[in-house]
Amino acid sequence: MTKPKIGVSRCLLGDTVRYDGRSKPCAMLNKLAVHFDLIPICPEVEAGLPIPRPPVQLSGSIEQPRLTGRDNPDIDITGLMRDYCLKKMPELDGLSGFVLKSQSPSCGLNSTPVFIEGQCVTEIASGVFARAIQASYPNLPIIEETRLDLPDARTEFIKSVSTHRTRKCPAQP
Ligand code: SF4
Repeated sequence: MTKPKIGVSRCLLGDTVRYDGRSKPCAMLNKLAVHFDLIPICPEVEAGLPIPRPPVQLSGSIEQPRLTGRDNPDIDITGLMRDYCLKKMPELDGLSGFVLKSQSPSCGLNSTPVFIEGQCVTEIASGVFARAIQASYPNLPIIEETRLDLPDARTEFIKSVSTHRTRKCPAQP
């Protein structure tokens, strides 16, 4: 039987795709690779943004934030990223889980700051890509890489992915 596939924010696998041309490798993914096939996805690069690129942040609204330039507010990639997410979501149907990069305006899950008029108004929002995944796949197990350091959270995620896969692909008699 093949391993379940889980999506992973690509910068966590050591790929230098971040806005600053760096990566954020997560050693815990080596443990997950024993159980799962890791599928690297960088939404910002797949949407067509270059490496390096100007950093962006969530801004303007907690409920419906835009993705605007951190240093240059004239930059607005909200439409680009929303179009990308619309096209990408059907491709994620074969995944049984996702590990997302914390605090990212694209990938963060309940850990991303939102700024309104230069002030941080919350630090527990989710990035545009993370929101799209949750809306399209509300039952998909998702975890941020920071929680993989917690043994209980890691074990729970591994169990949830296996259960999710079993539900989608019941064993043939
Ligand atoms: S956090 Fe997400 S969008 Fe940002 S570099 Fe990593 S994979 Fe790409």
